[in-house]
Amino acid sequence: MYDALKARYTFSCPVRGETSVPLSSFRRLERLPGTSHPVVYRVAFDCPCGEEHPGLVAHDDLDWAPLGLASGAFLNLMTAKVEAIESELGDIAARRIGAGDWPWSFFCYPERQSRPVFPSAFRLLAPGGRRQAVGVAVRCPSCGSLSVNLVSQAHVDVPFHNDTSIAVVEHVFGDDALRTIDEFRTELYSASFDERRLGL
Ligand SMILES: [Zn+2]
Ligand SMILES: [Zn+2]
Repeated sequence: MYDALKARYTFSCPVRGETSVPLSSFRRLERLPGTSHPVVYRVAFDCPCGEEHPGLVAHDDLDWAPLGLASGAFLNLMTAKVEAIESELGDIAARRIGAGDWPWSFFCYPERQSRPVFPSAFRLLAPGGRRQAVGVAVRCPSCGSLSVNLVSQAHVDVPFHNDTSIAVVEHVFGDDALRTIDEFRTELYSASFDERRLGL
């Protein structure tokens, strides 16, 4: 599902058979109702074949596998050496989080502050706003409100890579806002952004 060495998620593609994409190629994430052990997320992703496909990702794969903290099935297929790299990744991640360094963060507009976050809090993603930027709609784990940030691809795809400053849409979104990826894309190109420094 998640390949920690390539930092990509593997999905099936009707054209290519199997395909792999980074987190920033996800377009929509929603919790699949009725799932709990594990919680499963239904996602839509932009495939290298040019189409958008649906996929399913377990919570562990989404939030923990990029940190090397999940024991994926691929471990059984790999050599002992790769297993060692994997557990080393996990140790480093655990130590960094313990020291207050967060793998992902965003700026919560209603709270006017940076917040630590996990990918499962991402709702919509799309390229836009400016060159090579990724727009991310995040459901704040702290206050539950929706914020839209414009970040680099690395900010999304590389754990512990946090942009020093990001652009924030200066708008409080209602609960029924941004239901579709089209609404979200429109927002990314019409909204006014404010640069904020990310510091937790
Ligand atoms: Zn495809
Ligand atoms: Zn918040």
